Formats: sequence, structure tokens, C-alpha cells
Amino acid sequence: AATPSPNFLRTIIDNDLAAGTHARPGMPPVITRFPPEPNGYLHVGHAKSICLNFGLARDYGGRCHLRFDDTNPEKEDQEYVDTIMDSVKWLGFSWEYGDGEYLHYASDYFDKLYEMAEYLIREGKAYVDSQSPEEMAKNRGNFSTPGTNSPFRNRPVEESLQLFRDMKAGKYKDGEHILRAKMSEDAMSSPNMTNRDPALYRIRHAHHHRTGDAWCIYPMYDYTHPISDALESITHSICTLEFQDHRPMYDWLVATLADGGFFPRPVPRQYEMARLNLTYVVTSKRKLRELVDTGVVTGWDDPRMPTIVGLRRRGYTPESIQLFCERIGVSKADGWIDMSTLEGALRDDLDPKAPRAIAVLRPLKLIVDNFPEGESVECTSPVHPHHPEMGMRSFPFTRELWIEQEDFMETPTKGYHRFTPPVGDQPGSRVRLKYGFVVECTGYDKDENGKITAVHVKYFEDSKSGTPGADNYKVKGNITWVSAATALEAEVRLYDRLFTEPQPDAGGKDFKAALNPNALETVKAYLEPGMKDAVADQRFQFERHGYFVADRVDSTPGKPVFNRVTTLKDSWGK
Ligand code: ATP
Ligand code: MG
Ligand code: MG
Repeated sequence: AATPSPNFLRTIIDNDLAAGTHARPGMPPVITRFPPEPNGYLHVGHAKSICLNFGLARDYGGRCHLRFDDTNPEKEDQEYVDTIMDSVKWLGFSWEYGDGEYLHYASDYFDKLYEMAEYLIREGKAYVDSQSPEEMAKNRGNFSTPGTNSPFRNRPVEESLQLFRDMKAGKYKDGEHILRAKMSEDAMSSPNMTNRDPALYRIRHAHHHRTGDAWCIYPMYDYTHPISDALESITHSICTLEFQDHRPMYDWLVATLADGGFFPRPVPRQYEMARLNLTYVVTSKRKLRELVDTGVVTGWDDPRMPTIVGLRRRGYTPESIQLFCERIGVSKADGWIDMSTLEGALRDDLDPKAPRAIAVLRPLKLIVDNFPEGESVECTSPVHPHHPEMGMRSFPFTRELWIEQEDFMETPTKGYHRFTPPVGDQPGSRVRLKYGFVVECTGYDKDENGKITAVHVKYFEDSKSGTPGADNYKVKGNITWVSAATALEAEVRLYDRLFTEPQPDAGGKDFKAALNPNALETVKAYLEPGMKDAVADQRFQFERHGYFVADRVDSTPGKPVFNRVTTLKDSWGK
């Protein structure tokens, strides 16, 4: 794992450890949590939060809880719970520690949350508001205008308590009443809008994926979250910047309820960091869902999606995503991270470990006219140029081979070092077929449409790579090839970025206008024969083309389908 770099959160934790801010007998010094709402698939932004929260816990000998913030029954589902757990594990993290499993659901706290709400009512710190939603919105004011107290704000405690119990008992319809906090007498004129009597509970006659029909009132996120943190003895509760204004409410709730004896002190503290904004993708769950629902992509795990399941299927490794998160760090100011940073982390992770292989993606026949038909010469090359311990691979040289179409030019441009035909008494170019023989171009075939159908060469028998004669030949270029007799024909999916613009949804633009029509090109390619043994999720560097993975969904034994993870170099914007 990469060495953690200092950041403002580590500084806070270091200071807290020195001061004993969160010291409690028998408890680890740092407890963090990752709190997804199970209403969609995790994306690369969540990966930042996962790596940060689980990473801090690991580095400080603490623990990180996985907690489902499942307080919005209409949008949530078990399907999302399952994929979220899967994605966290795949990224390399676990909520299981030596002393147990720290998997929590906010819905497990519904009884306690209810009890605490009654306490707040009895203390005069919450009341049932019976304004219509429209009146409530109007009376809330705005950034330049103070709000107006609800006429129900000072209704007797007993009345609020009875109404709240009746809300719970199902006596009212959705939206008829709401439970609101009263953080202070003059809270409705607070410059911080979140402080203006925030909602704590609303009526929702909806089926919940875990609690079924037990409840028809559901706690709000801003109420549930701090309390869940406190119940789980979280020390550092890290969220994104848009929650900065919610911090006073967070602090008020945990302090008030600690005073009420619902949990011990010290209470958790909230810290905000910049969310990850990555170029060339969208990360809003709503927009990702739209791409899935409108068939722009094949599903949440489409290799073009910035979801964790999409990145996984594309061929990203957990290590590359961890490395990316470590490199981008955490900051207190919003900004954009370029996609090339993610791709760079992937290359840096795969380069030392991906076995090499040869693939011809846009094939052109090469015929070695002076090589006997039906014979073959075995050629070998290292599985990895810098790791001899990974061994050697071999493939045959035969009379008919596949090369890339771009490796032949009928009329070469200046500086072209691959196959060019003889002109007058000028011989054709000499090229080394990598790991094989030196060959000289002798001619080519064209069909009636002017399409080049084959290139002819002669080979030099004593020029084989690795033999003493090899050095006697001066060649201009070194090109990759596979034997037509033994090549594995395979479908290769050349994926590219999903959007052509770095910020497809900036300023409320229609992000679908910036979709990249070339984000997927499927080709029939010829691969070196050993590739038939590639298994799903196995990654390779196809020499000169980039990194590829055997698709985890569509590969079958002996018949892998490959996805391009990324090219060898960053070619965007160049
Ligand atoms: P979205 O806006 O995409 O729906 P969300 O924030 O509503 O995402 P949650 O399931 O509530 O999704 O997120 C779980 C955790 O992941 C939260 O703590 C949230 O702060 C964090 N998170 C979500 N998106 C990002 C991001 N882009 N960068 C960093 N952290 C993120
Ligand atoms: Mg959220
Ligand atoms: Mg959101």
C-alpha cells in the first residue's frame, strides 16, 4: 500500500490523539464510518470516501463501520445493499474486525430514534408543525430574509407529543404534520438556513426494504445521521463540503441527547472535505440511472460507467483505485481531478504486474513467400520484460501472419519505419517481426476496390531474435504479429471515455449532449494463441495497444472477450 501522505484530517486526528479528545476505556482511538444510502450503485466518488474512512481506521489502528443510511423507503432496495457490500469488499476493505462485524443499518435504530424524538419534544426542543408544505416553505425565508415562526411552534408539549404519537400510529396522511427541531428561540432568523427549525420526522406511508410496514413515519437524514454516529461511538464523522452548514445541527443534536443520557460523551465530531469531481464522467446517481434507463449503456456495470462495478468490469484493479485515492488526497476546497490521474494510477499499478501478450486489432495478412508452407518455428519472449521470474511464452512463426493494417504504407510518409514496398530498383523496407525474423517487403496485393489485401515479404533464415545472426541486420522498425495458423480470433472492445467534454454536466447543461459516440468500438482481433487460456478478470498488456482484461461477464472458457482498460499513453487532448 502507498504511504499515507499528510492531510488536514490526519492532522486533526493526530491532535485529537495527543489531547485525548476521544479517549474512552476499551475503545479504539479512531472510529470512522462509510454511510451510503442504498439507493444506487457506488461510484468513483464513493471510492474516495471508502478509501479515506477505511484507510484512516486502518492506519490508526481503529475501525470503520459500514452503515446503510436507509431512511428513504421509496428509493431504497436490497439490491443496492448487496452491491454496495460487494463493492466495498472488492475495493479491499472490510467492516469485520477481530472483535466483530461492524455492519449497521440506520433502520435498526428506528426505535431509539423515535424515543429520542419524544425526549426532544418533552424538553421543548422539538414540536409538531401542522402548516402545509407550501406555508412551511414560505415561512422558512431565504438567504436574505429571516424566516417566520410557525403558528404551531409554541403549541403545548403535550399536544405535540400526542400528535407525534398519532403520526406514528398512522392517523394522518403524508405531509399533514411534520416534526421539527427548535434549536433555539430565534432559530428561524438564523443566517444558516439549516438551523431554521429543521425537519426531524415526516409521514411516509411506504414499505421499507428492511422494516416492512412497521413504520409510517421516517426520520430525516440530518436527524438520523448524527445519532447513528453517536450510537456507534464514531469519533470522526467525515462528510462532503455541502454538509458544512449542517454541522451546528449535528453538534446540537449529539450534545442535547448526550445530556439526556442517550449516549456517553465524548460525542462524535463532523468534518467536511471536498467531494471528488472527476472529469469526463458524471457521478450523480440520478444521471447514472438515466444512462442505464435510457439504454445509453448496457447497465450499471457497463465498462464505460464510473461506478465501482463498471470500473471493475472495465479492468480497473482495486489497487489502482486505492492508489488514485491516495494521490488525489483530501482537501477542504472543491476542485476537479482529471481523468488522466485515474488512468495514470491504473497504468502505474498494471505496468509492473500485467503479463505481456500480442494482439493484432486491425489485421492485414502478411505472407512470407520463402517460408515453407505447413512448417513453423517456435519463437519465445518474456512474459514480462522486467520480471524474468514470470517466465517465457512462445508462439509459432509460420508462412502466413497477421500484422496491423497501419504497419504497411503503399506510399510512405516521411519518417515511416514499417513496411513499404519496393520502388524501381529500391528494395522494400526491412523490418524485424518482434521476437521472430527480419523480413523484407517484396510486394503487396490489392483488390478491385483498391484495398490492400496482403503484404508479401521474404525472410532471412539466420536473423532470428536471440540467435548470433540477429545483429547482422539493420532494420528500421520492429513490429508485432501473430501467426495466422494459430491465432485466437477474439472480440475486443475498445472502450474510451464516455463523454467528450471534461465537465459534461457543468452549469446544468444537458450532459447527454456530450456523450462520446466512439466510447465503444468492437473489433475482431487476432491474439497470440496462449490467450485462449485467459480467464475472466485476467489482465494483460497487449503490446503497443494498452491494458486489456478478459471481460467478467461475456468471456467463456477458451473464448475470452477482451475489454480495453486504457491505452498505454494518455492521448487525450493531444
Ligand atoms: P450521489 O450524490 O451520487 O447520489 P450521495 O452523496 O447522495 O451520492 P451516499 O450514498 O449518501 O450518496 O454517499 C455515501 C458517502 O459517500 C457519503 O458519506 C458521501 O459524502 C460520500 N460521497 C458521495 N459522493 C462522493 C464524492 N463525489 N466524493 C467524495 N465522497 C462522496
Ligand atoms: Mg447522501
Ligand atoms: Mg446526493
